[in-house]
Amino acid sequence: MKCRKCGGAAVINMRQHKLALCAEDYLAWLPEQVQRSIEKYEMFSPADKVLVAVSGGKDSLGLWDILARLGYQADGLYIGLGIHGGFGYSDQSRALSQAFAGARGLKLHIVEVEAAYGATIPELAVISNRGHGRPCSVCGLNKRYIMNRVAHDGGYTALVTGHNLDDEVAVLMQNTLNWAGGYLARQAPVLAATRPGLARKAKPLCRIYEREMAAYAIVRGIDYIYDECPHAVGSTTLYYKELLNQLEEKRPGAKLQFYLSFLQAKEAGLFSAAASEPDLHACQRCGQPTTAPGECSFCRLWDKVRAVKGLPTRLPASMLQPHVETEP
Ligand code: SF4
Ligand SMILES: [Zn+2]
Ligand SMILES: [Zn+2]
Repeated sequence: MKCRKCGGAAVINMRQHKLALCAEDYLAWLPEQVQRSIEKYEMFSPADKVLVAVSGGKDSLGLWDILARLGYQADGLYIGLGIHGGFGYSDQSRALSQAFAGARGLKLHIVEVEAAYGATIPELAVISNRGHGRPCSVCGLNKRYIMNRVAHDGGYTALVTGHNLDDEVAVLMQNTLNWAGGYLARQAPVLAATRPGLARKAKPLCRIYEREMAAYAIVRGIDYIYDECPHAVGSTTLYYKELLNQLEEKRPGAKLQFYLSFLQAKEAGLFSAAASEPDLHACQRCGQPTTAPGECSFCRLWDKVRAVKGLPTRLPASMLQPHVETEP
């Protein structure tokens, strides 16, 4: 197969775009696509201070690499979840994130949940008895909280994550099958800051296929963690991804079309009746925005878990700021 731009040997054939490219042209093409999404959805500008949530995987490290190449001021945030099962997921993902940042002289903030708050994510899930044996719901709650907190405290104006098209479409499919109007109304490439001091949230890879990110990481020589978090195995999201891959196999471009048509329908107001601004106020304890009355669910969760572990339940004010180690 030949590169459509220069006629050299292609390293990737993207049937969804009817486009085959060589290594050099691919490494130029993908950041252009990301830049187009950043502009189209008004995610952020070169004046913004951007915080990239990194997990050591191909999407987040690839995104950080692309943003740095595009000239954005992008720092990273790694959250250590304390997931040590199997192959030592957390240790590996931290080491790869640190190696990536170190080799490029990029600034990486590191927050270890256990050191900052007193328990690992799997421990937190068991003690709090939330999530029916799967730590994902408490994990999500902690990640969202810490990302917001670090973005806010560090003066970042945009918080970006490496969600790719496959991630977005799997969520879209799940929400569509349930006709979850509120979720559909909120699913977007960019979410404006709902309160002053809160960072805008953006997903610059929302139109990039997972396979395209894997190819980018390999061609660019980014060392990333291949395996998913062990708790992702058997998840509904992975099930929908498999279904959607079957669809894509038969109809190249189906995932992208599903997503773009959804965004158009949303733009046309199809979900506006379900859209509602959450009623946010400051948590009485930590000050972070919450919909819960009084204290936020993060503070309440940690109270309960710290009590069971025999740790002082009222977190001292300084501990509410996660310990952030910064490199370099
Ligand atoms: S799969 Fe792993 S990293 Fe993802 S939410 Fe679940 S526990 Fe957290
Ligand atoms: Zn070429
Ligand atoms: Zn709180």
